[in-house]
Amino acid sequence: MHEASLVRTLLDKVATLLKEHQGEAVEEVCIELGPLSGVEPLLVQSAFEMLAPQYSLSDAKLIIHEIPLEAKCRDCGALFEIKNFRFRCELCESSAVQVVRGDEFRLLNITIRQAVDNEASA
Ligand SMILES: [Zn+2]
Repeated sequence: MHEASLVRTLLDKVATLLKEHQGEAVEEVCIELGPLSGVEPLLVQSAFEMLAPQYSLSDAKLIIHEIPLEAKCRDCGALFEIKNFRFRCELCESSAVQVVRGDEFRLLNITIRQAVDNEASA
């Protein structure tokens, strides 16, 4: 399952960040997911819930920001959102379009809970 391996990489990164920040736990993990990333948000969510405990991240909630598919027209330079996978320029109907955004599977940020003892020194 493609989603599981992506989620493992993600959890690895999050666990490393938690250690670097000497936090107690991770509360939220926000990711950006584009329609061309080839993964299903629902499958990512369930893989996350299944795998998080293996990384001592069972408290973490995954928040998925689904981002639009955007393209640029090579003929007129227009930037537009592609809807229903219609790869044509909105303005000039050219089919010479280049996808500029939409294949992301990217960690945006995480929310770390610090141990109460650390607050004074932080
Ligand atoms: Zn155009």
